Amino acid sequence: MILDIFFPNRCLECNRIIDGNLLVCSLCFEQIHFTHDNYFEDNFIKEKCKLLFPIENTFALMQFEKENLSRKIIHELKYKSREKTGKILADWTSERLDFKNEKPDLLVSVPLHPKKLKERGYNQLHLFTKTLSEFYNIPFDHELIKRNHYSKAQALKDKQRRLETENPFSVTKNISGKHILLIDDVFTTGNTLASIAWEILKAGDNKVSVLVMAIDV
Ligand SMILES: [Zn+2]
Repeated sequence: MILDIFFPNRCLECNRIIDGNLLVCSLCFEQIHFTHDNYFEDNFIKEKCKLLFPIENTFALMQFEKENLSRKIIHELKYKSREKTGKILADWTSERLDFKNEKPDLLVSVPLHPKKLKERGYNQLHLFTKTLSEFYNIPFDHELIKRNHYSKAQALKDKQRRLETENPFSVTKNISGKHILLIDDVFTTGNTLASIAWEILKAGDNKVSVLVMAIDV
């Protein structure tokens, strides 16, 4: 494309000109902190999840540290309209994650708040999940989990009761006997994933595993 001549694709870290389908040059790629998590064994994110809900397996692709490249990559995906970053992250994931003969039944991504979706124009997890779905041949469902939201007036009136009793997410379909791989971008407190996991577990005889692009430690 003619645009490529005037605006060539550049490495996120060092600004070298690189192929249009890359995020970073080969030298900077070496600086990315991949976790080398083993999906079937205890790892850092599994220890965190265990404290919040019953968990099967976990995998985090990268590790965040102060100002490191992983952080820049996720920022690019979420705030710089670089939706294609999701595909690249999925490729890096599929090169490192092997489900062996224990593939989950369904991939489910965390739904974005509608306001954020409108601002951003895309859910940063969709292309990532779709690419993984095609690679592993596992179906994905972006509609299984819905965010519950309320009008302002109603929210004020019901605030206390809602905080005490209601989950911010709900399951939209009958689902039972499934092993679900929950997908999110960054694991920090794990509270969002825990809310969703409990809804899935309550909905039927399901199992939950977790996959995130990065873990913030
Ligand atoms: Zn570079």
